[in-house]
Amino acid sequence: MKIVNKIQDLKSYLAKEKQDKKQIGLVPTMGALHAGHLSLVKRCVEENAVCVVSVFVNPTQFNDKHDLETYPRTLDKDCELLQAAGCDYVFAPSVEEMYPEPDTRTFDFGPVMQVMEGARRPGHFNGVAQVVSKLFYIVEPDNAYFGEKDFQQIAVIRAMVEQLNIPVHIVDCPIMREADGLAMSSRNTRLTPEQRQKAPLIARTLKESVTFAPGKSVQEVIDFVVKTIEQEPVMKVEYYEIVDGHTMQPIHDWSETDYPVGCITVYCGEVRLIDNIKYASNLKG
Ligand code: AMP
Repeated sequence: MKIVNKIQDLKSYLAKEKQDKKQIGLVPTMGALHAGHLSLVKRCVEENAVCVVSVFVNPTQFNDKHDLETYPRTLDKDCELLQAAGCDYVFAPSVEEMYPEPDTRTFDFGPVMQVMEGARRPGHFNGVAQVVSKLFYIVEPDNAYFGEKDFQQIAVIRAMVEQLNIPVHIVDCPIMREADGLAMSSRNTRLTPEQRQKAPLIARTLKESVTFAPGKSVQEVIDFVVKTIEQEPVMKVEYYEIVDGHTMQPIHDWSETDYPVGCITVYCGEVRLIDNIKYASNLKG
């Protein structure tokens, strides 16, 4: 496994691989890797001759300075995990390498990026599009792997590659969870032991809401989720929306989509946690 910091170096290594007609897979990450990330890497290794994993805490997608400053950085440990997972190239550039000049590009992929995270984290998806488009131009991967934990992000990336005609196949991968159900996240390490113990309530409630949903209206399911989670004083739901999983637009009646997905953001103390759940396609109520 090679650890590469410079764009030009990575491009020349990959040019050779491409000459040999090798299929290239990319897993973009911000590091502090856990089993969720590694499930993407595993899939990338299985499906491609060459697996590239980028580790870059992208400043332009953070709308909260404190979040950027406190984001966990564990590159040495990440490289050990990636080597064991069969990764071929770790791309770990500096901020100056990725942004020698400020990136002034602004993207508009329409309604898909205006709701939920787009509405609450101004500039976030623009920053994601800036960094992921750069990674796509640098690596020119055949396949790129993203986790459904960031459900809306995948929709934004799909809209981006379509609008910019980037020839890459986007592969979405299921959410990996801790044994108690909590969606794995680099931010989980910021939870106090007490908060960590409470945090699985989010996933547990989402799961219960699937059983609760038949015969209930969309609003009743939303109310159930928010009320159940907020019974725990350390939790504050920022939003819970049930959306059309293709367009990300909130639905008000189950009949509006064949792919209802509930997307949640919860503050557990100071830590912002996200998760989501898929509902059955034939609900009524
Ligand atoms: P991040 O480092 O948080 O930007 O995440 C890098 C990639 O890993 C994104 O595509 C995430 O959606 C994905 N990812 C993060 N956590 C999980 C998880 N628990 N299960 C599956 N994929 C994940």
